[in-house]
Amino acid sequence: MSILEESSQDASGGESELMACHQCDLLVEVAELEEGSKALCPRCSHKLQASPRGGVSRPLGLSIAALGLFGLSNAFPFMSFKGAGQEQMITLCHNVMELYRHDSELLALTVFGLVVVLPCLYLVATILMLIPMRKGRRHPAFPGLAKIVFGVGPWAMVDVFLLGVLVSLTKIASMAKVELGLSFIAFVLFAAAFSMVVSSMDKEWLWREWERLETK
Ligand SMILES: [Zn+2]
Repeated sequence: MSILEESSQDASGGESELMACHQCDLLVEVAELEEGSKALCPRCSHKLQASPRGGVSRPLGLSIAALGLFGLSNAFPFMSFKGAGQEQMITLCHNVMELYRHDSELLALTVFGLVVVLPCLYLVATILMLIPMRKGRRHPAFPGLAKIVFGVGPWAMVDVFLLGVLVSLTKIASMAKVELGLSFIAFVLFAAAFSMVVSSMDKEWLWREWERLETK
């Protein structure tokens, strides 16, 4: 962990960068980070920059895994309900379609956007952004893709949706027998992988890594 103050020099001889703390506005000189380390503001301990263990390969691998798990979340039954002599099986997309059919078009579109479209857009843009970086190439599409990734990231509400499903399950469980399907397990793993991607995508660190690369 490196905490560098405003006037400090990078002892390793690497390039250092002046950054303003988003929390308290202190100007801090941040040295090039080693993998798995982070720079904190010396005044308020706010995280200024973080370099994930494994470098670019970590968010790239996690994004590919998350996209695969999202595919599985839609390929099998999400959950089934048994009660009053009836059995109903639903898939993830079925959830959204049911909302739409029951006059909740706005809610259906919001869920579809925040849980399906934005997370997929985020993951695809992340993969396209990181593949050239992984190969050591400074791709000109990086700034545009970074705008999508860091603009979309806060709106992808995978974890909120999962929390909502779990809360509903506790209510439904008293009325019907609920069985979780393979896609539910895949979705839980997808939500975990997705939040790991988001936590390893440090904006300052990625821009710095990209600037260090040669144009090819
Ligand atoms: Zn601060």
